[in-house]
Amino acid sequence: MSAASGVTPDYSASPQYREGRFRNPVTPKFPHGRQMIGLWWKFLAGKRPSTRPPAPPPVQPLTAQMLDAAPDNRLYRLGHSTVLVKLDGGWWLTDPVFSGRASPFSWIGPSRFQAPPIALDQLPPLRGVILSHDHYDHLDRAAIRALAARAGVFVAPLGVGDLLRRWGVDADKVVQLDWWQSIRVGEVELTATPAQHFSGRGAFGRDRTLWASWAIQAPGLKLFFSGDSGYFPGFAEIGERLGPFDLSLIECGAYDPLWEGVHMLPEQTVQAQLDVRGRWLLPIHNATFDLAFHDWNEPMERVLAAAQARAVAISMPMLGQAVDAALPPAVERWWRLPAKDRAVPRAASAERAQGRPR
Ligand code: ZN
Ligand code: ZN
Repeated sequence: MSAASGVTPDYSASPQYREGRFRNPVTPKFPHGRQMIGLWWKFLAGKRPSTRPPAPPPVQPLTAQMLDAAPDNRLYRLGHSTVLVKLDGGWWLTDPVFSGRASPFSWIGPSRFQAPPIALDQLPPLRGVILSHDHYDHLDRAAIRALAARAGVFVAPLGVGDLLRRWGVDADKVVQLDWWQSIRVGEVELTATPAQHFSGRGAFGRDRTLWASWAIQAPGLKLFFSGDSGYFPGFAEIGERLGPFDLSLIECGAYDPLWEGVHMLPEQTVQAQLDVRGRWLLPIHNATFDLAFHDWNEPMERVLAAAQARAVAISMPMLGQAVDAALPPAVERWWRLPAKDRAVPRAASAERAQGRPR
């Protein structure tokens, strides 16, 4: 099913929409009442220092020239869930967040661990931007406004597109879809797929816009992008209907047993990869913002151990590192580097990026 660009679907026609809000098919486990008060207390009392890295994690700097020379099906992780990928000769960007904080304010809220490997204004023109939902660590108003003129299309879940239009993105560049709806842009087909999550930007109310994962099919590459999600049966359905995928970008970070209904534990990330029938797993949503109580590098250690235990192929490139979708680089444990080794010169880090399995 295709949605014509610029047409606003009727939310009430969406099976996900009831009584003014979007809903998950099954209401996920979420902290409530006393648990929530306990969580606020924990936040206010101050977190352990190890929820943030002692120094900025290493980044492979990226230049416009390097991007000019990139072949199709090359991708670069630029941040939290921000991934730049070249498909059918054009650049696509997921959940662009370039601001210093994942927050409505520039002076308070979770700050980034490291600068992005390339500045927003150095990005090439984009064929499209793919959005998963409206949370601040995924939808950065400043980045959207900066990209409004430089991206051909903004593909978003229901309701998020309306927000983009309110922020000044041309209405005819915005496509907003319900789960299982698709849009074709040139040779690239994007299908909004389910996720088990929620939405809301502070005072603007909860669950007024939809959340989604995305199946992206391009010549020579099938990609899955999870957005944010708890573990749920939707992954197996996505695998059945649209899999297998060559590469999956699946969230692994900002989790907690208290809210595993809306963010997977690392072992569940690996199960989700098996369910969607992905060939390689590239975990995202980690090593950029401090949004939970776990150590900043715990997601990488746990997901690596879980993937190895279940013989799941995994790649964890540092931000800015070139990744060929057909052969993602071997795992280098850059999150373990001692602080004195962090300021790696370009040549040395490029060598390391070649990678040998360890
Ligand atoms: Zn979220
Ligand atoms: Zn998130």
